[in-house]
Amino acid sequence: MLSVVIPAYNEGENINIASDTISRIFESAGIEFELVFSDDGSRDNTWEFISKRAAADSRIRGLRFSRNFGKEAAIFAGLEKAQGDCVVVIDCDLQHPPELMVEMYERWKNGAEVVEARKSSRGRESPIYKTFAKTFYKLMKSSSGLNLDGASDYKLMDRKVIDAINGMKERLTFFRALSAWVGFKTEVVEFEVRPREHGTTKWSFRKLFKFALSSVTGFTSFPMHLMTVSGIIFAVLSLVMGVQTVLKFFGVFGEPAAEGFSTVILLLLIIGSLLMLGLGIIGYYLSKIYEEIKFRPRYIINEEISIKKEGSVNP
Ligand code: UDP
Ligand code: MG
Repeated sequence: MLSVVIPAYNEGENINIASDTISRIFESAGIEFELVFSDDGSRDNTWEFISKRAAADSRIRGLRFSRNFGKEAAIFAGLEKAQGDCVVVIDCDLQHPPELMVEMYERWKNGAEVVEARKSSRGRESPIYKTFAKTFYKLMKSSSGLNLDGASDYKLMDRKVIDAINGMKERLTFFRALSAWVGFKTEVVEFEVRPREHGTTKWSFRKLFKFALSSVTGFTSFPMHLMTVSGIIFAVLSLVMGVQTVLKFFGVFGEPAAEGFSTVILLLLIIGSLLMLGLGIIGYYLSKIYEEIKFRPRYIINEEISIKKEGSVNP
């Protein structure tokens, strides 16, 4: 059986379309499937739609968070609940073409353990957003060695991979990178991002920025090493300047000058800001350690509609 995990946040108008479209595709391809909707604390009628669908169709299940925990948490919760031999994660807005799942399934049948769908184009996005995304992926690649260019959350994973991911204890996770990090035999299919048909994007710039920051720091300590590197550079510079200052003091360059006022100011500014930056970075990692050490759950499930054996629905 194939499980489809669908994170949904305020997607009321998309639940029915998504479940209809996906069910039809698998039915006509003759693939046994289940849909696991992960309601990320929606404030609209998303849960009503999910529970209605789940009551009518035993192949559809749902879980609902007690509040908005974010898409990552919604995905991980879905992965934990999925019972299939392989699992696909797909967005609720069908911006990821669902027909592709059949090809992904075929590839899994033929031995692939992870089938990644990569964006061949990024769809309609503002230039600012594109630049940010590019910088982010470059940073990820150069610092952690994971090539996430064009990566999306749209991917199929074998049960082995799901178990590996479910076994990870960390709380602050980045699904896209984590599923690349675990390895396994990976194949790639390409797709074009479609425009969203119903509703608006659920990501604000602030949310995305926080997400990017926590993803980079979650996978690499490169920003911390940045501080060491700049520290070394400044140590060398200060050695040069120190020698020059001493020589000046003894008047080697002619008159012993009391100039250099601007140099002092500049140095103060530069070193001051570097120190602040360094402290900020260290503080950020510290706060992440703190978050992890608290061992809070990634999410809290409020309600769940799951199938007990023999397909009896248990709300
Ligand atoms: N999503 C979620 N929690 C959030 C934000 C988004 O579960 O806090 C889900 C959303 O319902 C959708 C998917 O993540 O199924 C992708 O979101 P969206 O389409 O808004 O992102 P975009 O396609 O604009 O990157
Ligand atoms: Mg979308």
